[in-house]
Amino acid sequence: MREKGELQLTNQRWKAITKNDSAYDGSFFYAVVTTGIYCRPSCKSRLPIREHVRLFETAEAANKALFRSCKRCMPGGRRLPDEEWISQIVGFIETSYAEPLTLKALSQVFHGSPYHLQRTFKRITGISPFRFIQHVRMEKAKELLNKTEMSIMDIAIAVGINNAAHFATLFRQKTGCTPTVYSQLSKLNHTGKQELAVPRSISSKRTLTDVSLCEEL
Ligand SMILES: [Zn+2]
Repeated sequence: MREKGELQLTNQRWKAITKNDSAYDGSFFYAVVTTGIYCRPSCKSRLPIREHVRLFETAEAANKALFRSCKRCMPGGRRLPDEEWISQIVGFIETSYAEPLTLKALSQVFHGSPYHLQRTFKRITGISPFRFIQHVRMEKAKELLNKTEMSIMDIAIAVGINNAAHFATLFRQKTGCTPTVYSQLSKLNHTGKQELAVPRSISSKRTLTDVSLCEEL
């Protein structure tokens, strides 16, 4: 039985959903019972199973039936521009880098197909979400290697990579030196040569060069 404001899912309306047909925007909203989210027909989110779809005449009717407005197509208000959508994803990665982030997980949180998310992310930021995640993780690792006495394994876990060897490989690809060497060089740099009893031949200037050399490689 349909609720007040609920519409029938005709073949024509289903076709509008499958084709992301913006001509139907405003004429109905579709909700997905498995996700609890409702969208405009034109939304580029992953196509639901037809049996899981319910249609509403208005956004209010979908709200009343306890569905939440999609963050991507904003059926309850204005449409979220791509730039804003991607900036939310960037912010999410910057705070959730310790979690097992995958394209699939991001596309579920931000309600867009993995393909569309990947393409839009790259168009706006210039790099893929995967490369951006690795970049954030390596920057965070550098900070931890620089400022803490944490073990390599603990740092790997803290940046969301649960394998120390894999972490070391990624780190070396990015900076040109191993996490251990990076940690030693960066600490040498800011603690001063007396404390670490560095031979006179290795001046602090030299170690600075070594660290930047690591970064450049
Ligand atoms: Zn949507």
